[in-house]
Amino acid sequence: MKYLFLTLLVVCQSAMGLPKHDPVPGGIALVPISTDSNVTFDGQLVMVTESEKGYVAVVGIPLSRSPGSFHLDTPEGKVHFNVEAKQYEEQRLTIENKRKVNPYAQDMERITRERAEMDAAFNTFRPVNRVQTGFDLPTEGIMSSSFGLRRILNNQPRNPHSGMDIAAPEGTPIYSPASGRIVASGDYFFNGNTVMVDHGQGLITMYCHMSSIEVEVGQTVEKRQLLGEVGKTGRVTGAHLHWSVSLNNARVNPDLFLNKEDP
Ligand SMILES: [Zn+2]
Repeated sequence: MKYLFLTLLVVCQSAMGLPKHDPVPGGIALVPISTDSNVTFDGQLVMVTESEKGYVAVVGIPLSRSPGSFHLDTPEGKVHFNVEAKQYEEQRLTIENKRKVNPYAQDMERITRERAEMDAAFNTFRPVNRVQTGFDLPTEGIMSSSFGLRRILNNQPRNPHSGMDIAAPEGTPIYSPASGRIVASGDYFFNGNTVMVDHGQGLITMYCHMSSIEVEVGQTVEKRQLLGEVGKTGRVTGAHLHWSVSLNNARVNPDLFLNKEDP
């Protein structure tokens, strides 16, 4: 019976929805192409999927990109696409733990090491045939901060918000929005208890500030499998989940993956 259920589940999810096309900094460009692999943007491999109309490159656009004309490199030549302008709002936050805004000299070695670990995870490109890109929200709560906000912490400009914040009580379960493999995990200086899931083809999701972690690096997870619980570890103003979604090593708006049911 269990196997029958699993088989049905696999069949149901073999078709795939696409994230929303929103070609802005921090967004996604869906670019029709004529090949199914070895497509790159800025030297980074890009996800390619199949739609009714043929192959589509699913390109993450870094927040730091200015609008303009860009191209993908494919085995059959360059394919051009445009990035449009988007203005993100400013957000001012007060962090009580000042060390998390202006780290001490002795914190820098740890911060550098952890950044390298996370960068390596974001750079993962694991070829898989099917990537689930129809996400459910990973936890139940209130969206307290959206993606892309230009952040001012304790009156000092910092990097823009690279994910979505969902405020929820400590201990609220966090579930994987799609199947994948745990590619990194740790207690990081800024992000607190963190889990990173590799969903394949350069699609990586990250969960931060957790109170507990229920998975280990190397483990595979299914859609809706428990990853851990909401907490307030690392640089926070209160208990919440920070959720990042990354494509070809570009952090993109998690909203673009929501409510896109895998048929
Ligand atoms: Zn956040």
